[in-house]
Amino acid sequence: MSIAVYPGSFDPITLGHLDLVSRASRIFDQVIMAIVNNPNKTPFIPLADRRQLVSDVVAPLENVTVVTFEGLTVSLAQKHEAHVLVRGLRAVSDFDYEVAMSQINHKLACNIETVFLAAALEYQFLSSSMIREVAQLGGDIHDMVPPLVNTYIQTRR
Ligand code: ADP
Repeated sequence: MSIAVYPGSFDPITLGHLDLVSRASRIFDQVIMAIVNNPNKTPFIPLADRRQLVSDVVAPLENVTVVTFEGLTVSLAQKHEAHVLVRGLRAVSDFDYEVAMSQINHKLACNIETVFLAAALEYQFLSSSMIREVAQLGGDIHDMVPPLVNTYIQTRR
């Protein structure tokens, strides 16, 4: 059985993330969305809410599960017997960082491969950081995030 981990902050989950995990779910038998908890950073959306939002958004994808974790991504993958990490590549912005990260992860665990999926054309310039900025300034984000994420962010204002 092919098990892949799709790690990220998902703060918040965007339509770009959803497109990526949907495509990954058609390639692998099981996909684990792994939400990073970074105790040194104050998130835009608290971890428990992020987990709930991601779980609700991916609920229609039967072979996708959601976990939260701290520490090394490769350790989480090993715990779940996953041999693949899925990451997204947008335009030029992600390349250097993502390739460096995949090299480090390969050094840490040589039996784990990183598979990159190119971001869809319409989501090339969509990022959680941009959404946070627009949302904090009161802008409209409805066509950048799943509807229930939009509702969550609006009701928090
Ligand atoms: P991180 O903080 O680990 O980069 P993110 O939540 O920002 O976490 O992103 C998780 C993964 O999703 C990364 O591989 C990133 O490149 C990818 N990603 C982010 N936005 C998009 C998008 N619009 N389309 C496709 N992939 C994306």
